[in-house]
Amino acid sequence: MPLARIRTVCELEPVAAADEVRAYWAQVEVDTRSRRTLAAFLVDHLSRKDIPVPPMSEDEKFDIRYAMRTDRGLVRESNQDSGYAGARLLAVADGFGADGGSASAVAIDALKPLDAAMPAGDLLNALDDAVHRARSAINELPGHGDSGTTLTAMVRSDSGLALVHVGDSRVYLLRGGELFRVTHDHTVVQSLIDEGRLSEEEAASHPQRCVLLRALHAKTAEADLELRDVQVGDRYLLCSDGLHTVVGLDVLHEVLSTVDDPEEAVRRLVELANLGGGPDNVTCVVADLVPATPAA
Ligand code: MG
Repeated sequence: MPLARIRTVCELEPVAAADEVRAYWAQVEVDTRSRRTLAAFLVDHLSRKDIPVPPMSEDEKFDIRYAMRTDRGLVRESNQDSGYAGARLLAVADGFGADGGSASAVAIDALKPLDAAMPAGDLLNALDDAVHRARSAINELPGHGDSGTTLTAMVRSDSGLALVHVGDSRVYLLRGGELFRVTHDHTVVQSLIDEGRLSEEEAASHPQRCVLLRALHAKTAEADLELRDVQVGDRYLLCSDGLHTVVGLDVLHEVLSTVDDPEEAVRRLVELANLGGGPDNVTCVVADLVPATPAA
């Protein structure tokens, strides 16, 4: 606390002095929180394994070959996950709370208008608008108080690809035979990893590994937005934590690099999650960027 403010505190009656200290500390916590977010972003950005960017011709046209599968798993009573895969939109949402199933469903519904032709320059704005529509829709749910959802989605224009992400569902990219994790979990455990207080191995069995720092719910819609480079030959996996907390990275890599048909790949991934006990709902989208079929 700066000296001038300490003097103010010393001159106050005990109750007022306590209020002053409390107000000071609340501000410190707000400042620290915003600096923590910035530091985590920088750590992630600087330590991320570089994803190779092979040269490609400017006007290479692509199509998306896709499949989606969602499953209740073996333990949960209902499926609160939702998923969507279309020619222009890929999305996964993992609901929580009493109305979690509705929350994930309305979030995906809010994105569905994006599964239509869109100019490249509008992608991020359109995604941002859709996230705010999703939050409003969640706000109108009867049990919205404690309910919300993660939301991880990709949308394309003719030449671009954009990503929106909040929560702990993930995007992986298979490029040049290597598997890269594209998204950063918004979880307590991930922030401990970012601060160097927990290793990836310790995180896997941490009791708080499911606790989210950010999600889409009635109060906030703070999501990460980014544009991705487009490479024909890329394969994306979008999945809820019901997959990535159960099926290890090496197995994901093996399935994605050996099972060619997206439909067969999502079927296999869900099967593996259930073979691992199926402790949670599981949703997977597999999408391949393939050369466009020439117009007839
Ligand atoms: Mg889940």
